[in-house]
This record gives sequence, structure tokens and C-alpha cells, in this order.
Amino acid sequence: MNRLPLPVLVVGGGVAGMRAALYLADAGHKVVLAEKDSFLGGQVMRLDKVYPTDHCAFCPVWPLAAACRSHPGITTRLSTQVLALKKKEASTVAVLRTTCSPVSAVDCVFCGLCLDVCPRKAISGRRDDIPYDPASPPLVVIRSEACDGCGECAARCPTRAIDLSVLKDGKTVEERLRVQGVIFATGFEEPVPGPAPEFGAHSHPDILTAMAFEKTVAEFRAEGALRCPSDKRLAKSIAFVQCAGARDRRYLAYCSAVCCMHAAKQARWLKRRDPALDVAVFYTDLRAPGKGQERYMRAAASEGVRLIRRRPGLVSPLDQRQRKGILIRHEEKDKVLSTVVDIVVLNGGLACSPGLERESAQAPLSSSCGFCREPADIARSVIQAGDAVNAFLAGPSRPEKEEATEAPHA
Ligand SMILES: Cc1cc2nc3c(=O)[nH]c(=O)nc-3n(C[C@H](O)[C@H](O)[C@H](O)COP(=O)(O)OP(=O)(O)OC[C@H]3O[C@@H](n4cnc5c(N)ncnc54)[C@H](O)[C@@H]3O)c2cc1C
Repeated sequence: MNRLPLPVLVVGGGVAGMRAALYLADAGHKVVLAEKDSFLGGQVMRLDKVYPTDHCAFCPVWPLAAACRSHPGITTRLSTQVLALKKKEASTVAVLRTTCSPVSAVDCVFCGLCLDVCPRKAISGRRDDIPYDPASPPLVVIRSEACDGCGECAARCPTRAIDLSVLKDGKTVEERLRVQGVIFATGFEEPVPGPAPEFGAHSHPDILTAMAFEKTVAEFRAEGALRCPSDKRLAKSIAFVQCAGARDRRYLAYCSAVCCMHAAKQARWLKRRDPALDVAVFYTDLRAPGKGQERYMRAAASEGVRLIRRRPGLVSPLDQRQRKGILIRHEEKDKVLSTVVDIVVLNGGLACSPGLERESAQAPLSSSCGFCREPADIARSVIQAGDAVNAFLAGPSRPEKEEATEAPHA
């Protein structure tokens, strides 16, 4: 085992990265956990609720994030992107870029006084791209495009946590960090635009990607009813189109693994909230590999969700002047059928976060876990973190998979 007193770098502060950081730190290693976003939790923080428990998405994140923040062996670096990795003798040099925030995460106590005094309403208590959850802690965000730098907020802040010069200059700091090894946990991204143009991703507000739908649902959660993002009319029908761009050699050849369960989760929630809503799932074949997931999926059918085994060839907005709605073209035997619904959710086509995997060869000691290793839900991503740390602790000469069953040793 490598006994250099250098830290181990974990790239990505999602559930997989946080779990890996904790395993490493518990095994006695110093860990730097670098997350390019300004919060821990990764994509799970952008979900409305999570299968199979239907608990809020914050539940699996919070204990891990709190443990990482308080662990003496872990240095958490938020707003810090790992740009490159270079091999240097037996170690690796990582290039990190940190985007400085005008609000110090250490000093801010979320008192909310800055929100009250801002004359231009440029400050909010949460990020727009994260669904509102009353359980999650507030995050003071100053929108640079709305702020005129008057300084009222900084003057009112009781802990001197605000430095507006940082906002004006858009300050970033680059540094080189020597580490003994790297664990990649960079997760996934939805390709923008969606990979298959025939599904019309981003062409109409009522054709949503799966992640965008998570946010839409969260926004309407309090009201209980689903409204069309285009004009806020009450939706009477919704269809989930599975494998949109996935399992298709032209785009992403593989299955994204979480989309069938995601559709079942949201479809069941919609039906529970509004039994009159027509909810259909167009699927290629339903994949529910985890414990209890088959039962979860079947429950959707028994609760009135229409599961339709068909792979649509086209999703397109109707001419909105004549009739509102989204057209889905699909085939049954020799016939081409048309279905019109109010909202379409495109499910599938999740890609590993780009960039660093290519560079893993540069790091003498490296391993990967979570969605960037293979499409995986939260439970599997967390299990993989243990795998990755085991492989890492065992050293570079032994293949990752063979070490999966061995206990970590310091
Ligand atoms: C629509 C949808 C719904 C889902 N619903 C569920 C559900 O209900 N239940 C469930 O179990 N799973 C669900 N999942 C799957 C779940 O989101 C993933 O299992 C989970 O996000 C994987 O965690 P991760 O840590 O591997 O990756 P991520 O959550 O993607 O986290 C990776 C982190 O790495 C950071 N990062 C990337 N590159 C860099 C870099 N170069 N430097 C620094 N940081 C970097 C990113 O900012 C991100 O925070 C769903 C997925 C989708 C798409």
C-alpha cells in the first residue's frame, strides 16, 4: 500500500463521491473532496423525491454531507472543478479551479437580512436550478445580472460574509494539488440538446427532459395539480417516453438504468395526486433490477398508470394556434397511431459527465464509482463507492473488480 502522506482526491461531491470520501477518511487517509457546484449532493439535490422510498431527495444526501463536513480527515472544496490530472512520479498533480463566491459559506449564518435590504431583489435564499425543499438549508445567492453593487447587503450583514468585489470581478483561483491518488465520482449529465432530434427535446416547454420534469413536479407539489409549463393550464394527460435517445446505436447505445423506475415514481405520484389525470408510459421493456423495484413498478399499473409497450418514433408539438398539445407517433402492428397529450417527459440518454475519465490513465492510483462508472441509482452508486475505495486501497497492480468483496484496510 502507498504510504505517502499525500491526500487522496475525490472528484465529485455527489452521493458516490461523498460516500467514497468517508470510507477513505475512516481508513485513515487525508481526503480532498472537490465539487464543482456550490453544494454537496450532486444530481440527487435536483430530484423532487427518490424511489424506492418516495422520501424527499434531501434524505439520502443530508447525512452524507453533514458527515463529510464534520470529518477531520476530509477537506471539502466547493465550487472547485478538477480541470486536469498529470502524472508526477508515483503521485498525481491535479489542477483545480475554484470560483470564488461573494457570500462566504463559512461566515454566512442564513439570517436573511441581506434578502430584505436588497433594493433590486437580486438576492435569493436558494438556487433556481434546485427544486425547493423545505427541509434543505437555505443558500444565499446573489444574481450578478440583477445586482448593481450598491453594497446595502454587505453593510447589513452581521457577520461580514459578503464581498461584492468578488461578484464584479468574477474571481477564479487556479492551483495545483499533489495527491497520492484519485477517485472519480463525476456522475452524469443530460445531454443538451437531447440526443435524438425526433423526440423534440427543448423544442417546446411542454416537452421536458426527465430532470426538468423533476423540477416542474416540485414546483407544483404544494398545489397538488400538474400544470403545463407553456401556459400554466391544468394538464389532463401526460406521457413518459422511455429510452428517448438511449439503447439506440445512433446516440447512446446503452440503457441508462434509472429511467424506468423514475417514470414509475413520477407516474404513481401523479396518479395519487390526481386520479383523473391520464398517465401513460411508452416503454421498450421495463427494467427494474433492484430490490423491491419490480413490485414498485407493478404497483404503478394497479394504480391506473397505462404501461404501453411501444417505442414512439416522433414527438412533436401540434400547431399551437389550432390545438394545444404534443403529438406522439407510434406503431401498433402495421398501423401508425397518433396520440396527443398535454405534457411529454423524455426519459433516457443520460451520459457520464465528460472530461476526466480519459485522464484517469494519467493517475497512477485511481478508481471510479457512481454514475460515471456505469449508470446506477443512488443505492448502487453508494455501494460502488465501497468497491472503488477497496480497489484503491489494494493498490494499482490488482484489478478493480477482483477487489470488490475484500474489506478496506488502512
Ligand atoms: C430523472 C432522474 C431521476 C432519478 N431518480 C432517482 C431516484 O428516485 N432514486 C434513485 O435511487 N436514483 C435516481 N436517479 C439516479 C441518481 O440521480 C444517481 O444515482 C445519482 O445522482 C448518482 O450519484 P453520483 O454521485 O454518481 O453522481 P452525481 O449525482 O451526478 O454527482 C456527481 C458530482 O460530480 C461533480 N463533478 C463532475 N465533474 C466534476 C469535476 N471535474 N470537478 C469537480 N466536480 C465534478 C458534479 O457537479 C456532481 O455534483 C435519477 C436520475 C435521473 C436522471
